[in-house]
Amino acid sequence: MIFKQLFDNKSSTYTYIISSGEGREALVIDPVIENIKSYLNVLKELKLKLVKVIDTHIHADHISGLNELNKQTNCSRVMGSHSSSEVIDIRVKDNEKIKIENIELVSMYTPGHTDCSYSFFMKDRVFTGDALLINGTGRTDFQNGSSYDAYNSLFKKILKLPEKTLVFPAHDYNGKKYSTIENEIINNPRLQVSSADEYAEIMKNLKLSHPAMMDVAVPANKKGLTLKDIVK
Ligand code: FE
Repeated sequence: MIFKQLFDNKSSTYTYIISSGEGREALVIDPVIENIKSYLNVLKELKLKLVKVIDTHIHADHISGLNELNKQTNCSRVMGSHSSSEVIDIRVKDNEKIKIENIELVSMYTPGHTDCSYSFFMKDRVFTGDALLINGTGRTDFQNGSSYDAYNSLFKKILKLPEKTLVFPAHDYNGKKYSTIENEIINNPRLQVSSADEYAEIMKNLKLSHPAMMDVAVPANKKGLTLKDIVK
């Protein structure tokens, strides 16, 4: 299997390129618009044909590369059915299969960070978007976020995956690349709670400032802007 994890320095976003092998079909998760060239270079070098691109949720801190990749490669744009994006080709519901050749991802509706957040489970790993981060969890204070929904998504869905499952989030701000479900259950400070109310209390008291890009990124991601639109 080909598995590439690429990092965007500006927004600390992780983007994933997945394929069963050189010369085969590929899938991209959570691309950042400014890095399109480097994704296309990786795809070209490995002779991969990009067929699907997934955004785990409507991002508030960067403009997604989903639409530009669609424009340049004609790949299908995939998001969860709760997404308010206007440019999605395939909307998956909870527990649906997304296939490229012999690779299979299963969608998991994991709202809380936003009301459109999905995670994607693939054999030994899960792409959690911002639902579960390494030693953290996604904020729940905008885009119809809900700390109670987040608690349920975490404790009733994501953390129920096999404990050795690798966790690949959409962001990391401390140089960590991945974790495991087991490691997060034991060490993630946000998960050391015994009730949804306790979790909500932690989230209420975070007092985070809004992402600098939010007013630009959210509408851009809903409309599916391309590079041409943003350099105008
Ligand atoms: Fe996010």
